[in-house]
Amino acid sequence: MIEISGVRVVYGPGAPPALDDVTLRIAAGECVALVGPSGSGKTTLLRSLNGTVAIAGGSIHVDGVEVAKLRGRALRRLRARLAMIAQQHDLVDRLTVVQNVMAGALGRWSTPHALRFLIAPTAAELAEASAALTAVGIPEKLRNRTNELSGGQRQRVAIARALVQHPTAILADEPIASLDPALGEQIVRLLCDLARERNLALLCSLHQIEVARRHFDRVVELVGGRVA
Ligand code: ADP
Ligand code: MG
Repeated sequence: MIEISGVRVVYGPGAPPALDDVTLRIAAGECVALVGPSGSGKTTLLRSLNGTVAIAGGSIHVDGVEVAKLRGRALRRLRARLAMIAQQHDLVDRLTVVQNVMAGALGRWSTPHALRFLIAPTAAELAEASAALTAVGIPEKLRNRTNELSGGQRQRVAIARALVQHPTAILADEPIASLDPALGEQIVRLLCDLARERNLALLCSLHQIEVARRHFDRVVELVGGRVA
């Protein structure tokens, strides 16, 4: 599903490489944790997968397609298939939960469609949001305002939004860094369960190596931009 081969990233002339000869394959339905100290290249690797960070060497294939060759609409289609989950502050507070969840559909909607949804969502759209919220365990929050949610509930909304994207992979960048340990572990378990149930590749960076060992199929450690 994801094939990273000899990847090198250099942010500026004279800078040491942020990624150096990184090779990693992730199959559909496989859960891989990315661990390593701050500055070791975890975010850079996740961003290079969807073409947000350009690579200076090596290659990345997603679903058999080489990411560096994609432009315009093809690149947008790739990004729609790779759902990103960030550490926090990634939802629009002023919107309702259902609106944040359905933002995951923006990649397949026209602008008029998105505007109509904000004013008058259809029963099918509400049902899709409701199904995604059920999958992440908070169906009762559909109509809430997003700023009324706890940190753990917000990450569940971010995961529901990712599901609405119909992704083939989920890329999560320290999704539990701002949660307390017990809550964080529940979110990690949810991500892994969903990836396995839906046959999605999951690449998730995190700091807690014990949590990584308990829930993921493989743990990959980056140190100084290299796989250790
Ligand atoms: P991690 O996510 O593991 O903390 P990062 O991928 O953010 O690591 O960073 C890897 C290295 O690349 C670090 O040395 C960092 O300073 C550098 N870096 C990250 N982003 C940028 C950027 N936009 N411009 C320049 N250097 C960057
Ligand atoms: Mg990072």
